[in-house]
Amino acid sequence: MISKHNLRTLQELRFNGRYSTSISSGPLGREGSRKARCAELLRYRSNLLGSDLRITNFGGGNTSSKLEQADPLDGQPKQVLWVKGSGGDLGSIKRSGFATLYLEKLLALEGIYRGVNLEDEMVDMYPLCTFGNNPVAASIDTPLHAFLPFPHVDHLHPDWGIALAASANGKTKMEEFNRKFGHKLVWLPWQRPGFELGMMLKKIVEETPGCDGVVLGGHGLFTWARHNVNLISTRSPSSISLGSSSKITPTLQVIILVETDS
Ligand SMILES: [Zn+2]
Repeated sequence: MISKHNLRTLQELRFNGRYSTSISSGPLGREGSRKARCAELLRYRSNLLGSDLRITNFGGGNTSSKLEQADPLDGQPKQVLWVKGSGGDLGSIKRSGFATLYLEKLLALEGIYRGVNLEDEMVDMYPLCTFGNNPVAASIDTPLHAFLPFPHVDHLHPDWGIALAASANGKTKMEEFNRKFGHKLVWLPWQRPGFELGMMLKKIVEETPGCDGVVLGGHGLFTWARHNVNLISTRSPSSISLGSSSKITPTLQVIILVETDS
């Protein structure tokens, strides 16, 4: 699926000048350095995604990583969701633009959720899940990232993805896309972003082993990766017709990054 020519190395990314090697090698301690490197990769990935208008329209979308960090209160390791804060632009976001939240606390909110008609009350809970002294406000898309059980999640609004997601025959065309390009995207009917959509994403991923992305009807895309080191960009070689006169040329996977613990 991933051929040599579409695998861009970290070396090339450094050459492009936007990845901070000083942070990746880090003057901080071992733990601090690793955390800073992972957060920096999230920032860098976000800037790359946001700077290519084929991948997302201006300001559109948000990104996240689930990172292990020492709890400042007791020193114990905790899973922390780093997710783009409310507002702002992916192409220019800095590390200071991400909200940080205890993942465990976010996931526990499912236990007090009273249903779609009261989903807005959950927004008041997000600040109570903040990790560290971070003033960045979590967006209403936060549960969408929290409840997808993958370390690195991207939610994007590419023009082609919106065209697909908003087409009457979008689900059929997504299935054609899957057959043609070897993906396993699943279709989720439109649902307003919020806690309910987080629950729906969790459910559809549990029910569809091996799926590698979600098309949100009338909205956009969710894609993810388990690892965060080599930047992978697969561009589809041909177009899919949506009807008599309109075509889309998907640029999927787009960027799903980078990891290594080595
Ligand atoms: Zn969106």
